[in-house]
Amino acid sequence: MTSGAIDLRSDTVTRPTPGMLAAMSAAETGDDVYGEDPSAIALEERVAAMLGHEAGLFTVTGSMANILGVGLWVSPGQELLCEARAHVVRAEQGAHAALHGVTTRTWWHPRGLVDVAAIQHMMAPDAGPYLVSTAAIAVENTHNFAGGTVQPRDELAALHAAVAGTGVRLHLDGARLWNAQVATGVPIRDLAAAFDSVSVCLSKGLGAPVGSVLVGPADAIAEARLRRKRLGGGWRQAGVLAGAGLYAVEHHVDRLADDHTNARLIAEIIADAAPGVVDPAQVETNIVMLAVPGRAAQLVEQARTAGVLSGAMDPNTVRLTTHLDVSAADARKAGETLADLLGSLH
Ligand SMILES: *Cc1c(COP(=O)(O)O)cnc(C)c1O
Repeated sequence: MTSGAIDLRSDTVTRPTPGMLAAMSAAETGDDVYGEDPSAIALEERVAAMLGHEAGLFTVTGSMANILGVGLWVSPGQELLCEARAHVVRAEQGAHAALHGVTTRTWWHPRGLVDVAAIQHMMAPDAGPYLVSTAAIAVENTHNFAGGTVQPRDELAALHAAVAGTGVRLHLDGARLWNAQVATGVPIRDLAAAFDSVSVCLSKGLGAPVGSVLVGPADAIAEARLRRKRLGGGWRQAGVLAGAGLYAVEHHVDRLADDHTNARLIAEIIADAAPGVVDPAQVETNIVMLAVPGRAAQLVEQARTAGVLSGAMDPNTVRLTTHLDVSAADARKAGETLADLLGSLH
């Protein structure tokens, strides 16, 4: 990164805090392939308990947690349904198809939300000898590429009811599920309750350098543990990293509220200077999407020169993400920088 720049490209860019580094160096370790790393085991148990699931599996990335989670439920040639901009189908290099033979169909929602009517229309749990059978549905909460949107609870309950008795499984990509908890006040275990498996990231807003956890039923997680090794994801002294994760879930959840406040602040400053680029009322968590038709790359470059790093999602959309290493003063400065650029472009 450009030194001294305010880095809003992603909430993955955080550095471990001194407290986190101390927890990492104090963590007990052992060989986790032998099941002997006490910190990895503690992290898996802690996150499973937080999410109200039986067991947990520490993975190197959220992608690996999703690949293993979906792979538990969908056999080769069966299908996964998900929203059109879901991370599982857009940002995991086709892993579900390439590694597990998963086929996918998508529904579209402008805010990335679950649409039970659309899902019911598509879902074919036992499609017979001619069509592809639906084995699982993936939901993303919060939805990254739709702008950090939170899935409405009643729609999740309706989805749960819609699959009851069909054998169709539900996987939750909860990379930013803690953001959803903090934004809504709904406990994370309630947000995770309807799902057969859930992945959560420690490396996003929680500020750990690495890691995700997949939770689900004990027998399924035991199977995922074998498959993690097959993918080359077996850990040795994982406790150094699990220590960061344990520290993150203890100390960095409540402060996500600051990221949400900072994201809203950025959106408000920009909306004042350049109406129509962003609606602050739609900024629910730590992600701000700017609608800049045809000039996303240009804006990203101009902002970079002015000391603010951002990301072009497509030719029309710039994403700004707040996190642990962005202060309120940084957010204000970044908002003002972008407001100046957008105001002069108008
Ligand atoms: C970041 C992210 C993941 C996991 O990404 P990794 O880089 O593989 O850790 C999964 N889903 C969503 C929605 C994400 O934003």
